[in-house]
Amino acid sequence: MTLKDSVDAVVAGLDDIRSELEDFYADLHAHPELGHQEHRTATRVAQRLRDCGYEVHDGIGGTGVVGVLANGDGPTVLLRADMDALPVREDTGLPYASTAGATDASGRQVPVAHACGHDMHVTCLLGASRLMAAARRAWQGTLLALFQPAEEPGDGADRMLADGLVDLVPHPDVAFAQHVLPYPAGQVGTRAGSFLSAADNIKITVHGRGAHGSAPQAAIDPVVIASMIVVRLQTIVSREVAATQPVVLTVGSVQAGTSGNVIPESADLLVNVRSYDEDSRRHVLAAVRRIVKAECDASGTSREPEIEEGIRFPPTVNDEAVTREVAAAFTATFGERAGTVELQSASEDFSRIPDAFDIPYTYWALGCVDPGTYQAARQRGTVAQDIPVNHSPRFAPVLQPTLDTGVQALIAASLTRLAKRDHTSP
Ligand code: ZN
Ligand code: ZN
Repeated sequence: MTLKDSVDAVVAGLDDIRSELEDFYADLHAHPELGHQEHRTATRVAQRLRDCGYEVHDGIGGTGVVGVLANGDGPTVLLRADMDALPVREDTGLPYASTAGATDASGRQVPVAHACGHDMHVTCLLGASRLMAAARRAWQGTLLALFQPAEEPGDGADRMLADGLVDLVPHPDVAFAQHVLPYPAGQVGTRAGSFLSAADNIKITVHGRGAHGSAPQAAIDPVVIASMIVVRLQTIVSREVAATQPVVLTVGSVQAGTSGNVIPESADLLVNVRSYDEDSRRHVLAAVRRIVKAECDASGTSREPEIEEGIRFPPTVNDEAVTREVAAAFTATFGERAGTVELQSASEDFSRIPDAFDIPYTYWALGCVDPGTYQAARQRGTVAQDIPVNHSPRFAPVLQPTLDTGVQALIAASLTRLAKRDHTSP
């Protein structure tokens, strides 16, 4: 029996649960919840995992859920889905479009939509979990189905880890996750090595000395210092980082003063840095500090600048060997619908989980655009304009074949480790 036979044996049950999964998805899509507020989603997930025989740990780091299915000796595989939605007003025109609203962490009333497709991740993982539970004879080992809160705010994985995740569940040997991206539905794309960027957000406050706009000699002008910093920060990427290392540094906000004739006391800058490996990341962050301090010194400020690191996302760097195994399983399962995917500039907090367990992982792209629509846009040369991307009010995966493919991909990846020993060749 080949790995493909094992995948087929588990996936055979999909026909029986497909319409139920589709209903679950449509319901979830119509009832999105912001990060750390995924109570309804988590309750429904936990209930369904229990119904098919999983030992369920819930309330981890707030709303996190892990289902554990022990099925004899063998490796342990962790599958992860994120559950949260975004403060976006949905404009997809779908019959199950969200009209939901919520109060965000800062107390504002916001519209909520699954504009990043995490509802698809949840439904695919639930489907794969059920099929694996129903086909226990086809594999052995332990399966962990992890449903993570708050990927978008960047602290959901951290909260689960801070709440003792590592000691709560059996130690996995490998971790897998997938994300819907605007490629044709039915396709899966793997990538060895760097896949998603690390993101760092830095808030800088430069303290000068305020004075009348007519008397700059009495002031230390924070507007001038902030301006020098903005320009000088551009030299980090252009002069300090190798051309072969992709890094982005953006100053997205500069705030100082309220009037043309008053030199303000201080200036605030918000900086966003994207990098793909820890060495460049560390170098860039250190260079930001160095330049901010030096510019303040150059202007003779009497008070040190404040440099505060905000939300950060780690880089997603797929293990080469694990990715090769999964890519082979995808080729066996999907034929030419399996391929590779290019480097993405988005970020994820998934890798914190495998990093905390000190295990390898791979994370792949799941196509989610109607293949005909995609092909037509491609022929017109208008993919960038016509195909909504994640976080757009018009973004929503086409239900099929995205759902079937996502379920099968999770099963195929799991079985690279969990298929019975005589089933391991693809
Ligand atoms: Zn997102
Ligand atoms: Zn996402």
